[in-house]
Amino acid sequence: MTKNGATRKRSATRKCPVCGHESWRIFYGMVMPDVREQYPKAEFAGCVITLEQRIYPDTGKVEWGTLGWVCQDQGCGHRWW
Ligand SMILES: [Zn+2]
Repeated sequence: MTKNGATRKRSATRKCPVCGHESWRIFYGMVMPDVREQYPKAEFAGCVITLEQRIYPDTGKVEWGTLGWVCQDQGCGHRWW
């Protein structure tokens, strides 16, 4: 009956702020295969770190950030952090 570790849920997901579809976390850097198995619902971007520009509408301040989440809806594909 007992399955060791099988009940642990590490696949934390979020809802896309645009379309509400399930979105996955983006991991950067070298990731071991066992880590990938722990996060079946995640994107692994390797060593390519994508920076995205965000402009605050109120202040006009420009901010650069590393993307952390990607929407899994094919028609949306929204990325944010
Ligand atoms: Zn979306």
